[in-house]
Amino acid sequence: MGAPAAMNGLDARQVERLAEELARLKREATAGVRKASGEMSEEDAELFRDAGLTGDGALAEAEFERDVAGAGQVRAALLAIVAAEGRLAGGEYGLCEDCGEAIGFARLEAHPAATRCVRCQEAVEKRGGPARFAG
Ligand SMILES: [Zn+2]
Repeated sequence: MGAPAAMNGLDARQVERLAEELARLKREATAGVRKASGEMSEEDAELFRDAGLTGDGALAEAEFERDVAGAGQVRAALLAIVAAEGRLAGGEYGLCEDCGEAIGFARLEAHPAATRCVRCQEAVEKRGGPARFAG
């Protein structure tokens, strides 16, 4: 890991701040997974890390789904964090995966592992949420 560089609407300082936040969240999530399952091995952690860095989400997802019944939520959070670190390392961090626009520092500061901008996230939640209104 070199020094943080500016990317996708974030300056170097903001990138550094978000990288630190991701690292902190990862420590928390890792501890949470260990506590919840009692079986989070270094091997697992490495798999998550590798998947994030190489962007090979499919493998991690398969592994993830196998274990999801146990500590689903903390593991999902950990996977999201690791994926975000991978994007950070690859210079793709901070862009909405749906519309490709910059997500923005304020939202990333609140949700460092966010993969969508507010607008697209709301659209997804509307689609997935209870359909109170037709269409
Ligand atoms: Zn978007």
